[in-house]
Amino acid sequence: MPDALPRVRIVATGGSIAGIGPDRLDYILYAELGGHLTIQESLARIPEANGIADIEAEDLISVGSTAIGPVEWLRLSQRINDILRNEADVAGVAVTHGTATLEETAYFLHLTIKSSKPVVVTGAMRPPTALGTDADINLLDAIRLASCSDAGGLGVLTVLNNEIHSARDVTKSNSFRVETFRPNELGFLGYVDSDGEVVFYRAPTRAHTLDTPFDVDGRDSLPRVDIVYSYAGSDALLVNAVREHGSDGLVLVGFGGGSYPPATLEAAVRAVEEGIPVVLATRSTAGRVVMTPRKDQQGFIVCDNLLPQKARILLMLALTVTEDRDEIQRMFTRY
Ligand code: ASP
Repeated sequence: MPDALPRVRIVATGGSIAGIGPDRLDYILYAELGGHLTIQESLARIPEANGIADIEAEDLISVGSTAIGPVEWLRLSQRINDILRNEADVAGVAVTHGTATLEETAYFLHLTIKSSKPVVVTGAMRPPTALGTDADINLLDAIRLASCSDAGGLGVLTVLNNEIHSARDVTKSNSFRVETFRPNELGFLGYVDSDGEVVFYRAPTRAHTLDTPFDVDGRDSLPRVDIVYSYAGSDALLVNAVREHGSDGLVLVGFGGGSYPPATLEAAVRAVEEGIPVVLATRSTAGRVVMTPRKDQQGFIVCDNLLPQKARILLMLALTVTEDRDEIQRMFTRY
């Protein structure tokens, strides 16, 4: 009797990995046309996957990932937590997702999944209807990775173009290339390689999944956190819009290690004084924003090296458990 294959659950959400183009040379218009294969149709293209895992799959939603936000993150996280809590024999979960916001969903899951089993997010840069599509191999790699016990305990992983990344660090770096997902200068974790092996070379050091206080079960909304981007000569207009709207938090994106145009900064100081937590981030694509005595005295929080869109997610989740600025700052150095 051969050994049973590992059980892998797939939760599909849409995106280019399921996109339907008008012809084989279409790499662009399909996204606006909006049609998606069901996950069963995607799986039918890769019968080889049935030799890797015992697969059950569901379409949770079927949208381009520009339409994914906090409500969908909560649904997805709750669904995956349900599966992992109630089905002890599931080895891991793979999620299919559009690449536009894939890194944000992956980081949200990284902070809210309460399991050490592999959870893998994948997408594709070229729809399955296009020549040279990466949809089939990325889905196959995600199934392989989700069924691999070595992928457990590393937090949520992404795999595209055979490369495995930590959800915390990965970002979409190029608008069209298949090698778009990059961890900036931090390095990838491993490969799902050409011989079918899953190989790891490093592991994330920041806390995640079971080691966070973020429990989103039963929630249907999150605190509202907005992002304001600085540019030469930017003024108070956008920060003031956030203040006047009464958002729950703000990520202020500035220059280099944490500097901001004077009028923009002044408006942000006012926001902090009014009780809006403000996380300082940078438009540099790598490196930390560091605390200074003045920023500390002004009451700011610094993002460490999180990209602004990920700093927003951590602040949203932090605000579900505390409003204490020092505690939130500690979270930014821990997660
Ligand atoms: N429009 C697509 C999305 O759903 C892009 C992609 O998947 O690559 O994000």
